[in-house]
Amino acid sequence: MNKSLETQGMEKIVSLCKRRGFIFQSSEIYGGLNGCWDYGPFGVELKRNLKNYWWRVMVQERDDIVGMDGSILMNRAVWKASGHEDTFSDPMVDCRTCKARLRADQVVDKKGVKQCPNCGAKDLTEPRAFNLMFKTYVGATEDESSVTYLRPETAQAIFVQFKNVLEISRKKLPFGIAQIGKAFRNEINPRNFTFRSREFEQMELEYFCRAEEGKKWLDYWLEQRLKFYENIGISRDTLHVHEIPDEERAFYSKGTYDIEFDFPFGRQELEGVAYRTDFDLSQHQKASGKSLEYFDEDTKQKFIPHVVEPSAGVDRTVLALICDAYGEDEAPDEKGKMEKRVVLRFHPRIAPVKCGVFPLLKNNERLVAKAKEIADLLRPHMNIFYDEGGAIGRRYRRQDEIGTPFAVTVDFETLGEKEVALKDTVTLRDRDNMKQERFKISELIQLISARIA
Ligand code: ATP
Repeated sequence: MNKSLETQGMEKIVSLCKRRGFIFQSSEIYGGLNGCWDYGPFGVELKRNLKNYWWRVMVQERDDIVGMDGSILMNRAVWKASGHEDTFSDPMVDCRTCKARLRADQVVDKKGVKQCPNCGAKDLTEPRAFNLMFKTYVGATEDESSVTYLRPETAQAIFVQFKNVLEISRKKLPFGIAQIGKAFRNEINPRNFTFRSREFEQMELEYFCRAEEGKKWLDYWLEQRLKFYENIGISRDTLHVHEIPDEERAFYSKGTYDIEFDFPFGRQELEGVAYRTDFDLSQHQKASGKSLEYFDEDTKQKFIPHVVEPSAGVDRTVLALICDAYGEDEAPDEKGKMEKRVVLRFHPRIAPVKCGVFPLLKNNERLVAKAKEIADLLRPHMNIFYDEGGAIGRRYRRQDEIGTPFAVTVDFETLGEKEVALKDTVTLRDRDNMKQERFKISELIQLISARIA
């Protein structure tokens, strides 16, 4: 785990996220809504960069994958066929003393006696299945015929549109359909900040293949997904692969890996990579009566393809990115005295702001005008932050805390007031080593763009 988070890890993260506008409690002024979170100005940029990068490498840079965007509300029949209506549940226990509702696996077992982890009482109900789907009604009447659910995963929309996408994309096996979108689960105990939320986003790929190649693609996707995390800056040594043993896997799965990350609250799942065989398509074919088969033009055979599913959580990955990037070190203040610095060392590719732009002094019109000119020059190429308020060291510190990798400062050299040769050059500060180097303004776009691509 990240050394700087060994003590009070999550407190530091939650407080930084609120202070710097990454993540707020939903409906905060009304006391919040448990399990729901709002992303503020920097959080939304970070999240977008993550989703855009996933989409780029999973869809746009590949010839074998296409995207789709399904609706959140679907025909209830989808959830009956997929098994969610009957089995998407957690066993749950009520404490009769303090009325806490607990997941059965959270009950404390002291020498064979079950106890409430909240109040210590031993008066608990037997475990009962609690369906995690949010129920709602479509249309004006609230009766059984109008019931449906907010989707608990994005994958089912892909399965039920399999035939349409196959036909219009004219893809041959193996090929995949990818989707990013909201999912909802009425988790019994939302906790660990955004890690277990009731409303969250998923990035899912369903990669269809021939039965005999399922295992091969499972291993291939595990490797691809590990590389993905490294490419967004999460170091391999904080990631762990947990192979789910036979007895814990869904009966239809022929292999599942969880990719786990060392969060401050422990090692937990970021993504599941599962070989789901032909279970989902077969279920929908049976229930809908519509063929979801693939026709192999070479062998003239018709069959239901198998599928490998890498399913990642956007919010969990954002949280992992923040926890992994968090650092504390020391930097000199205005008078050269060392003070504590909090820094988010995001990979430049996913950092919410790419470059800070500062005039050295706020009250010098020429410095301000030049800095604004540079801000306008960079803006079409990257997300920048123009800041003229406070001492320059303070401004650097503010950018360090939101993880901005670069900062450009316009000083008197830029104006050509000190040395003619330095006219139209600026200092470019590196967030990680805090070193400043001079570059020509005309070089900036290329220099920074190469690092954030
Ligand atoms: P867990 O065991 O942690 O509840 P899961 O195995 O039920 O997760 P999946 O159904 O495999 O999760 O969902 C795929 C991914 O969606 C997870 O790896 C996770 O990143 C994300 N996810 C699932 N549930 C939540 C949640 N309540 N809050 C945030 N992200 C979630």
